[in-house]
Amino acid sequence: MKKGLFFSITLVAAILMSFAVVHAKTQFVTFGTGGITGVYYPTGGAIAKMVNKKKEEYGIRATVESTGGSVFNINAVLNGDLEFGIAQSDRQYQAIQGLAEWQDKGPQKDLRAVFSIHPESVTLVAAVDAGIKTILDLKGKTVNIGNPGSGQRQNAIDALTAVGIDYEKDMKAESVKAAEAPGLLQDGRIDAFFYTVGHPSGAFKEATAGARKVNFVSITGIDSLLSRMPYYAKSSIPMSMYPGAQNDSDTETFGVKATLITSAKVSDDVVYAITKEVFDNFDEFKKLHPAYSHLTKESMLEGLSAPLHDGAVKYFKEAGLM
Ligand code: GLU
Repeated sequence: MKKGLFFSITLVAAILMSFAVVHAKTQFVTFGTGGITGVYYPTGGAIAKMVNKKKEEYGIRATVESTGGSVFNINAVLNGDLEFGIAQSDRQYQAIQGLAEWQDKGPQKDLRAVFSIHPESVTLVAAVDAGIKTILDLKGKTVNIGNPGSGQRQNAIDALTAVGIDYEKDMKAESVKAAEAPGLLQDGRIDAFFYTVGHPSGAFKEATAGARKVNFVSITGIDSLLSRMPYYAKSSIPMSMYPGAQNDSDTETFGVKATLITSAKVSDDVVYAITKEVFDNFDEFKKLHPAYSHLTKESMLEGLSAPLHDGAVKYFKEAGLM
């Protein structure tokens, strides 16, 4: 009996100790993404799923958080609330240079790039009954430019400013999250909204699927903006992706790239493991979202303006990509 009791206690202790060892070894990392109708959220989910498959090997447990977007993610990674975040290439550039949202704080020296992902277009949709054919028609309208913390907010302000629209005076600018914008457009509470996102995205499927007819609006007449800002490039949104939209031809606009960012304070081992999982299983990764259809491994090293994290460099050298 006593022997049995001793054996049970030893067994329980051994189990508890082994849990403690596993726990001590497991590193928890969180990916900051965006709204659930965007592409960041499923992208974070795809990466986390790949890394978690190898939980025993790497001792990493990855989770995903829906957030306000690029600017929120960069700040949360820098203050240690998140280990990774997805952020637009232009916001990455501004943070590292200490511009725009980081003007007061100065250059964000700990920001590190891991790799870039899909292209994103600065996208403007409007209700047909609002009569918005060009970006200039936004004057006097109620337009969602995006929540502070999102990447699209500054893109919308840049585009409006480039065509001579003062968003604070010439129109009624709303600041709600992209996930809420399609509902507001369908309910007639806004006339149009901006969202910088990969395509196809759930947000625009929702925006073009309701009773109120909706069209995408090309953003043109911004050549001087594009030549001044090295991180902006022309892009086109195929209307075949949104059969509900009232457009006859593809939408011309400009765009950036979605990138994975981290902090210099995150360990090389963790960044190495995450980079390796995505790149070693690139074909599988590419199938996870239609927005990745044009990705190549080489293209994922382009569009980065923060220094690469050492853990990513280690993998890229090993894989012959650098
Ligand atoms: N580009 C958006 C942002 O930075 C997010 C897009 C998405 O969630 O896919 O806020």
